[in-house]
Amino acid sequence: MKTVSSLLDAHWYERYKNISRLNIRSSIYDVTNRCNLRCKGCFFFSSGEHKVGDEENDIDKWHAFVQKEMDRGVNLAILIGGEPTLCFDRIEAFYKKLPTFCATNGLIKVPRDRFPDLMVGISLWGDAEDETILRGKDTFKISSANYAGDPNAYYLYTITPKQLGKTENIIRKIKDVGLKVHMQLLSNDEGVDGFSWKPEELVAVRQEMDAMLDLYPETVISSKYYHEVITTGKMLGRSFGWMECPSVTEPIDKRDPRPKRLISFIRWSSELQTMHRCCTSETRDCSTCKDGAAHMSWVMVNKRAHINTTKDLQNWIEVYEMFAKLYRFIPW
Ligand code: SF4
Ligand code: SF4
Repeated sequence: MKTVSSLLDAHWYERYKNISRLNIRSSIYDVTNRCNLRCKGCFFFSSGEHKVGDEENDIDKWHAFVQKEMDRGVNLAILIGGEPTLCFDRIEAFYKKLPTFCATNGLIKVPRDRFPDLMVGISLWGDAEDETILRGKDTFKISSANYAGDPNAYYLYTITPKQLGKTENIIRKIKDVGLKVHMQLLSNDEGVDGFSWKPEELVAVRQEMDAMLDLYPETVISSKYYHEVITTGKMLGRSFGWMECPSVTEPIDKRDPRPKRLISFIRWSSELQTMHRCCTSETRDCSTCKDGAAHMSWVMVNKRAHINTTKDLQNWIEVYEMFAKLYRFIPW
């Protein structure tokens, strides 16, 4: 029988041991139904998730809710929205109690005296031209001024088909402001003309993502296996989609057969009672889903399938390390 130790040399085995002790149990929380932008293609608004219930305004209820989440074993809170920085008291309810990550568009700066080491992921959808088309403004100008040099912030760069051939300019700009970057792909939930992926564009973007990782290894937090899986939708000959997705809310997951999945994962609405279907759009057709976190989790929960060849297992380790870096479980 193939074992982890028989496939890895001492260096890789050490890396494997470092991540296997982590036992991450994440869940995702909509902090608010509001945002100070309205991006075309925003999964939250396009799926109507902002309307499932009124957001909870009583901060005591948020504190009690966080405690209940910890009691059921959550050890990583991923805050999204809407725009979480519109509600610092709610962010604080999580941050004071457990490892917390906050996704933001970066227009409002997280005050570092109040949240010294909160990990912040700043969304970016391309260059100034694309950002203006899709989001109504060039957010980089504002977010980079807010976060330049911040050791606990990085850019979550959503690459669109229009960005092909232009990603290096963006990566260099991010490097120049002293930040890191993680790349993912647009799913174009609102069908904006010219922003849906064609097969040949997915081939090209994979090459471009690989090249960026080779050229800027200190800036880009990624792995080539992740690029392969997210651009092809394939892992070890299996196809990504509803029946494989690991990021479905557990209490409403009735799939049969049940795939390998994130244990205890729930995505909560900001009303603190309703659960959303998964980590992203409630209404997205899973066959078009390019969600980066779902693809990386897909690899992570399928460790056993990667204990096959040395390369497969090293690929698995690199994806797990990437996730652990993005959520501050191991250093950059
Ligand atoms: S900033 Fe984020 S939450 Fe707000 S509209 Fe854009 S994608 Fe949606
Ligand atoms: S939309 Fe994506 S993340 Fe959500 S259930 Fe479908 S495949 Fe999974």
